[in-house]
Amino acid sequence: MGRRLDHKDHRRELDDNRYVYAVVSRRARGLSIGVNLNPDKACNFDCPYCQVNRTTPGGPTRVEVADLAAELEDVLRRAAGDLWTAPPFDTVAPELRRVADVAFAGDGEPTTPPEFPAAAHAAREARDRLAPGIPLRLLTNATLLHKDRVRAALAEFDELWCKLDAGTEAYFSVVDGTRLPFQRILDNLLLVARERPIVVQSLFLALDGVGPDEAEIRAWAGRLSEIAAGGGRIDHVQVYTVARTPSDPRCGPLDTARLEAIVARARDAGLSAAVYA
Ligand code: SF4
Repeated sequence: MGRRLDHKDHRRELDDNRYVYAVVSRRARGLSIGVNLNPDKACNFDCPYCQVNRTTPGGPTRVEVADLAAELEDVLRRAAGDLWTAPPFDTVAPELRRVADVAFAGDGEPTTPPEFPAAAHAAREARDRLAPGIPLRLLTNATLLHKDRVRAALAEFDELWCKLDAGTEAYFSVVDGTRLPFQRILDNLLLVARERPIVVQSLFLALDGVGPDEAEIRAWAGRLSEIAAGGGRIDHVQVYTVARTPSDPRCGPLDTARLEAIVARARDAGLSAAVYA
């Protein structure tokens, strides 16, 4: 599903880890531990703003869950000690030397691999044992939330952060680079939000210098309203824009005033919403 909002540091590698990486996030006020279930860089979206470099080959598709669990345990243990004695973490302010979260957020859609349920369970178990109280999050594009194997595994996570970048099918197909039906995303968000509160993540950008028009933003806010009216619970809406150079040079950021105007539409719909840098 792509990036966490707070990836300012491009460094995603941690030693020789294949699945688990760590970045320090000021906004999260600590270490964000990421779990990448897509070392092969495969995604069922092709967002023009994606920051995954697909010009170089990815790794194997099969996820070795035992290796993933070992990497996560190692990082969680080290975060309590020697992680902070070596670059790049040795320069981190003392108050940020804590684990803030563990999130499935990698180089593709994390719910795609068949190993997703086993990986989620392993991560939950490691988190419970080594970092109780730290939230385990899933960042997802919501395309597969209707699948039984995915839905069953959602219970392993404390928080679901779901992507919704558009209000209309036409814009959705452009900004998320997919021919998958937009209605499936909307149905899946409602399905899950009826069972538990979700966080919605919405990225808006300028394509060839042109941002989404007001009708698109109204449609997007209308989709959020429909989820709420249908009995879905949306805890919070995160609005953000492209922060680093995307692979597609047509993409550029929206300015803060525009982002704030977009957030206002979500608030008009009665939702908690904010802009994230
Ligand atoms: S959902 Fe979009 S941004 Fe996330 S990894 Fe896939 S193509 Fe990239």
